[in-house]
Amino acid sequence: MGRRKSKRKAPPKKRMTGPLDTQFTCPFCNHEKSCEVKLDRQRNTGLITCRVCLEDFQTPINYLSEAVDVYSDWVDACESANTT
Ligand SMILES: [Zn+2]
Repeated sequence: MGRRKSKRKAPPKKRMTGPLDTQFTCPFCNHEKSCEVKLDRQRNTGLITCRVCLEDFQTPINYLSEAVDVYSDWVDACESANTT
């Protein structure tokens, strides 16, 4: 008696480039994944905090913004602060 289970093929794994990733390397202390992003959609504000060195940063977001955008804004702000 052959049992025939219809196997569902799992969908191909999407490459995790990390659009949903909310943990990033800190530009201050360089700890990996120590920075956590919170997106406050109500206030259109993105907040990122490093739990190691406790640096934080806020930036305006829009409905298209992702955690990674908040992070890159922070890195940009750090870099421009360094060049002046
Ligand atoms: Zn840090």
